[in-house]
Amino acid sequence: MENRSAMIDSDTEVVTTLPLLGPDELAAVEIINADGSSSAVLVCDHASNRVPQRLSMLGLDAAQLADHIGWDPGAADVARHLSADLDAPLVLSGYSRLVIDCNRPLRSAESIPEQSAGVTIPGNRGLSPEERAIRINALFRPYHGTIGRLLDARSQRPTLLLNIHSFTPIMNGSSRPWHIGVCYGHNRELAVLMRGALAHCGDLTVGDNEPYPIEDEIDYTIPKHGEGRGLPSVMIEIRQDRILTSADAAAWAARLAEAYRLIEAEALRLLM
Ligand SMILES: [Zn+2]
Repeated sequence: MENRSAMIDSDTEVVTTLPLLGPDELAAVEIINADGSSSAVLVCDHASNRVPQRLSMLGLDAAQLADHIGWDPGAADVARHLSADLDAPLVLSGYSRLVIDCNRPLRSAESIPEQSAGVTIPGNRGLSPEERAIRINALFRPYHGTIGRLLDARSQRPTLLLNIHSFTPIMNGSSRPWHIGVCYGHNRELAVLMRGALAHCGDLTVGDNEPYPIEDEIDYTIPKHGEGRGLPSVMIEIRQDRILTSADAAAWAARLAEAYRLIEAEALRLLM
């Protein structure tokens, strides 16, 4: 498979680097509503299952890329609706987590996974340091650089960080009961408030740090941009079978917006 990212020019012995993204391909990162008035900043690490053309679908088929290993189905849809409902800025990654996972530390074996949920990723096997660097520079750094610049620009404004994800209903043969999970790492205060507010938003099973907590060795976005800046932050995980349609995603966004408005004033006091 032709997925080499660096080639040796045999005449000159110069390493030449091809860009990962072709001129007609979408950007590594999308930012919408950058000047939104909300105190909330939304990010969506696993928004897309797109793979750069040069990587030949990583050797996978379309069904594999459409599955939860390739992205968080429905998460971007919820995040876009929530951005509109709250008038909040939103940053979305443009490419599949299988190309490089924007919510994994670069030192993690899951940063560019050779396997995911039992599926071998042929295009990720035996990558050279140069090939890794190209993905980091083309996708990971632009995404996090955009979030960083957005937060820098808002440094004088009260800001709460919400990271929007979705999770598969069944993992390792076990079904997961939560409709939505509110997840945190070192700082749980915003999550506690959000969980309490969601309890008022209908008959929901709300996970407390489920399906997984935020951990420094596994997660990147909230440790870097939330905890790293002292911003109250939370990871919202919605079960994928609840957001199969855009109408369902809009309804979940409305629910999240309602919960956010309920706790916003109290949450902003966490910044004092
Ligand atoms: Zn995710």
